[in-house]
Amino acid sequence: MSENNKDLGEFAEQKPEERSVFQALKRGIRKKCPHCGTGNIFRKYVTVNDECAHCHEELSHIRADDIPPYFTITIVGHIVVPGVMWTEQLYSPSLLTHVAIWPALTLALTMAILPFVKGGVLGVLWALRMFEDEKRFTSAAE
Ligand SMILES: [Zn+2]
Repeated sequence: MSENNKDLGEFAEQKPEERSVFQALKRGIRKKCPHCGTGNIFRKYVTVNDECAHCHEELSHIRADDIPPYFTITIVGHIVVPGVMWTEQLYSPSLLTHVAIWPALTLALTMAILPFVKGGVLGVLWALRMFEDEKRFTSAAE
């Protein structure tokens, strides 16, 4: 055992199980636990459950931060901007019509897509074991 592993105690002996990034991404996009694919990853709109209700995998330590909004903005932008340009080219509606349609569509698409993107990001972060050290040291300190 190396000098660094002495501080980790029992955790240094454990071999981590293999995690498929693609499978965790698919489960996350379905808003399911990246570990078992059965329990819900969110308890509210985009509030992450502390742990999976089915397999009790701890989920609260995974922080997606600003990644889901960035990806959502990119996706929605690639839908709305061509939509505005295509509509203008084909129909040339009044400015008031544009103002009535596009902000509402942008908001609706953002609200609809964000949970799926956040689920996918959380799944990938879980599979890559991001923030795994924080979980270990938090539970070791308790
Ligand atoms: Zn689970």
